[in-house]
Amino acid sequence: MKRYLKKAKRPGVSWVKIIHPKNVVTAEWVRIKCQYGCGRYGTCLTCPPFSPTPEYTRKMLEHYSKALIMIYDIPPEPKERRMRQKMRKQIASLEKEIFLDGYYKAFGMASGPCNLCKTCDTNQPCKFEELARPSMEACGIDVYATLANVGYKLEVVKSYDQLCHYCGLILID
Ligand code: SF4
Repeated sequence: MKRYLKKAKRPGVSWVKIIHPKNVVTAEWVRIKCQYGCGRYGTCLTCPPFSPTPEYTRKMLEHYSKALIMIYDIPPEPKERRMRQKMRKQIASLEKEIFLDGYYKAFGMASGPCNLCKTCDTNQPCKFEELARPSMEACGIDVYATLANVGYKLEVVKSYDQLCHYCGLILID
């Protein structure tokens, strides 16, 4: 696990920790924040209503004994889009490496809607299935409560020109 911790600490990642998945909090209210308040609801294959429900995620978490949780510091536009793509690719690549090491259940989650394509065609299969992963919140995870459980205080971002802290998670068993 220490090797994965080291690999996860890349430029742009300000905090990383190995945690027990019992600290990951799921809640029904999270999904409604996607439905009312996010303009990408229903427009991306990794987001609700296509992504796992909080109930499904809750049950899924029981099958894992460890998780790597990390914080990416993402600057505002014009860098935001590229940095978010980089985050998604790094999480998918580390998930793949962990999988190839024999942890065959490894599964990564990122933050925000997938932005690997300019437009996500929800009527077609995903174009980059090896890279596209749902965000934690799209799976009904309360990211603020989860981070608080493992010793990181995530603050609410109050303006579009502020640095954002995006959270990523890789489940391992
Ligand atoms: S990789 Fe493209 S097609 Fe797949 S979920 Fe992301 S935006 Fe949609």
